[in-house]
Formats: sequence, structure tokens, C-alpha cells
Amino acid sequence: MSIVDEVRARLVEPGKLFIGGEWVEAQSGRFIDVLEPARGERLARVHEADARDVDRAVVAARAAFRDEAWARMAPSAREKLLWRIADGIERRAEELAHLESMNNGKTLREAHWDVVPSADIFRYYAGWATKLHGETIPVDAGDLVYTLREPVGVCGQIVPWNYPLLMAAWKIAPALACGNTVVLKPSEWTPLTALVLAEVCKDAGVPPGVVNVVPGFGPVAGEALARHTDVNKVAFTGSPRTARLLLKASAESNLKRVSLELGGKSPLVVFPDADLDAVAKAAFYGIFANKGEVCAASSRLLAHADVKGALVSKLGEMATRMRVGDPLAPKTQMGAIVSPTQLERVLGYIESGKREGAKLVAGGERDTDGDKARGLFVKPTIFDDVQPSMTIAKEEIFGPVLSVLSFADEDRAVEVANGTTYGLVAAVFTKDVQRAHRMARKLQAGVVWINRWSGFDSAAPFGGVKESGWGREMGVHALELYTQTKCVWVAT
Ligand code: NAD
Repeated sequence: MSIVDEVRARLVEPGKLFIGGEWVEAQSGRFIDVLEPARGERLARVHEADARDVDRAVVAARAAFRDEAWARMAPSAREKLLWRIADGIERRAEELAHLESMNNGKTLREAHWDVVPSADIFRYYAGWATKLHGETIPVDAGDLVYTLREPVGVCGQIVPWNYPLLMAAWKIAPALACGNTVVLKPSEWTPLTALVLAEVCKDAGVPPGVVNVVPGFGPVAGEALARHTDVNKVAFTGSPRTARLLLKASAESNLKRVSLELGGKSPLVVFPDADLDAVAKAAFYGIFANKGEVCAASSRLLAHADVKGALVSKLGEMATRMRVGDPLAPKTQMGAIVSPTQLERVLGYIESGKREGAKLVAGGERDTDGDKARGLFVKPTIFDDVQPSMTIAKEEIFGPVLSVLSFADEDRAVEVANGTTYGLVAAVFTKDVQRAHRMARKLQAGVVWINRWSGFDSAAPFGGVKESGWGREMGVHALELYTQTKCVWVAT
């Protein structure tokens, strides 16, 4: 049996919720139909969690947080546990990659690229489990004053559909390293790999209730998690619109902590001295990788007027040659858009680009060639002569649509680059070292890439400024999200 058939065979039974170390049915008796976007048909069904199931998961997570098996687990044992989760992910890499590709529509190659860092982040945070310590503080009174680094408690984690496994790993790994317990709500569009990850955690020996996974709809299960008064923290990746609802829910319930990884409209700024072949490659993958469904996509190419024409013609050729199609086929470079909702959204932005007067260089429509007619495909699209005031220069499209803008000098480049409500990442291409570092300081972004697009490592912090979010994931910085400091005074 091929791996695809094996994966399909395992999907015959509806996926259950993972609560308290057990697979359980949703109380409502309802199901989510999970789509395979490349075929435009149902791939699987999973039980749909509602507020009652979320409550059950929070109760399990609270009990596990208090239970000695977890609360008093030696740091070195937690370290080994996280290593075993990483090993488990690697053991099931083929299955996870296929499942992700089929459910999200990304190419199988891209799905494999997600599995590698998903395992890696568990190993990275495994190391931190034994290195979380407080400090002793000299105070005027002469007493012994020290701090304890404690876990936050029960963490609600809400993740989107573009990197379902990777986002779950980014969230669960640091939370467990710090001794928290977790209730993860995957996106209703892509709940499948998170459920496999739950199984991996169980097989690795994670105590019951430490990790719970509750697929459900945002306004139902997500909202219930955000409003639950026994959840200490919500970690969220998704849209600024939902982020606002989560902040409101926190304010109206128990003031739980909230960390936010949101969207972007990230600029890739090109000065005339840059290596244009390298820029074209970076800009191409920066917008078309993962179908542009990337929070850190380089959705605005901001090119100096002297080089814009040459760059646009290179990119136009590359986009026209790009192989769009079956995500599981080895030669495919771009797969299917995740959902009908997202397809409509992307096509709507393409129409707005045309309407507002941007110049269409490539794509600009749905791709219905041959078998693609039944799936959700969009041609890689490039608009030139985009003005900063246009909708496609301001709003996040989250699809394979590049907006090309130009500038005449460095000050204007900074002004345009910083001229959106977002501030996730930015890139600068130049051979001038002084300019590169000057730009790194001036750009409003949580991450700046110089002479490269994209760069992720479990050790390097990632996150945004402005409406791209609060807090940093990965690296030592994420430990701040999942610990709190207690100060102890001892009269001497
Ligand atoms: P979304 O905000 O609609 O959904 C994200 C998650 O929130 C899903 O699990 C959804 O079910 C849940 N949700 C929706 N409504 C909710 C509510 N009322 N209460 C609680 N939870 C709710 O976003 P999306 O469309 O699924 O994802 C795309 C967005 O995510 C884009 O804006 C993108 O930039 C962002 N994103 C950011 C990063 C990052 O690291 N910064 C990574 C990936 C995606």
C-alpha cells in the first residue's frame, strides 16, 4: 500500500478529541468536515469540540498541572520527554508530511520542510528544561532575596491553518519545557496533524492532561478557551481581527495573559547595488512559497526605480513558468489554496488590484487547467506599479500575490516600508554594509533579514511589532511567555 493510501485508510474513522490522555467524542455529537483543497472534496471528519469539551480539557489540564507526575517531574526527565517527542515526530515524518500536504494543500516538499523544524524545536526546548533558574538579589535590608521561575499554569493555544504542525510545535514545546499544561485548538480547516502530534506526545510518555487537543471552530471552541476563567494564558497565532476578540475575552474574564503572533505586509527592499539574481530568487520564494499563505511572506517588493524594471521582468518570467498543481506530485512548486473562503479572499484582492489601477504582470486569476478545475488553485500573480495607497499595498492577502512598488531614495524606502499597520518582518538587499545596518534600525519589524529572505531557527526569536503582535516565539525569548517570576524574601 502506498503511503498516500495508508494515510487515507487511517482517516476513515472520524478523529476524536484528545483530552486527559484519552481519545474522546465531542459532547455535541457534531463533526467537522475536513477538506482536501487540491481535490475539492472531503478528506476526513473530526469531532467538533464546543465549550463543554473545552471545559473538560481545561479541567484535565488543571488536574495535570497540580499532579505530582508533572508538577514534580525532574527537569532532566522533562528534557528527555521532549527529546522523545522530537524522535516521535521524526519517526512519523512521512505520515505527517503527507497528511499536512493533503489537508493544507502545500506541496509535499514544503510539508517535509515543516516536519524538520517541528522536531527540532522540541529538542531545542528540551535543553532549556534544566536551565530555568532564578537569581539572588542583593537588597539594602541585607535579607536573602531570591527569585523562582515558575510555570504560568494552564495555557490555551490557538493556531491557524497555514503551518498547522509547525505552529503547534512552536507553542507546545516551550510550554512543556517550562512545566505548563496545554489545551491546543487547531484551526477548523487543518486539525489533522495536531491530532497526530497528540498521539506522539502520548506515546512519548507525556502524562495524561498535560497536552490536550480540541479541534473546533474559532467563535465556539476558540472563544470558550479565551474566556475560560481557569486558563492562565492564551498564546495565539492568527489574524489581528481575532486577536482583538481574544484581548476582549481576556479583559472580560480573568485577565489571562495573551501573546500574539499576527499577520504582516512585509517589505523586501532592494537597492540598486544588490545582486539582482539573488533578489529575484528571494522575492519569488518569499511570496510564492506555501502559496503565499505565510505570515512572513514578502508581499511587497519595494525596488529602487533603477532596478525595478529588470526585476519585474525576471519575476514575471519565473511566475509564468511556475508549476502549480497536485501538492503530492514531486515536480509541483505551488499547491492549492487552503479553503474556499481563502480562495475567495485572494481572488477578491486580485480584483481590487485590477480595479485600483495596478499593472498585472503575471497570473491574476484562478487556475482551472485540467484536474485543477476541481481544486482551489490560483495562478502566481504579480502586480507592478502598485501605489502605497492601494488596498493590495496595505492589506494582508495571505495568498500568491506580489505587489511591486518603487522608491527613489533611502528615506522614501523607509517611509513606504513602514507605511502599513503591520511590522512582522522586513528584508533589505544591498552590498553597502552601512546602509544595511542603518536600514535594520529604521525598519519597523520584529525580524530584519539582510541579503536573504526567510530565516528561521529554534534559537532565534520571531514575532512582530505594531499590529503584527506581541511577544516573541522561539529562542530564549519564548521562555518569558511561559514562565512567571516569584520573588522570595528571607529575613536573615
Ligand atoms: P484566524 O484569526 O481567523 O484564525 C486563527 C485561529 O483562531 C484558528 O484556530 C481559528 O479557529 C481561531 N479563531 C477564529 N475566531 C476566533 C475567536 N473568535 N475566538 C478564538 N479563536 C478564534 O486566522 P486564519 O485566517 O486562520 O490565519 C491567517 C492569519 O494568521 C493571517 O493573518 C496570518 O498572518 C496569521 N499568521 C501569523 C503567523 C505568525 O507567526 N505571526 C503565522 C501564521 C499565520
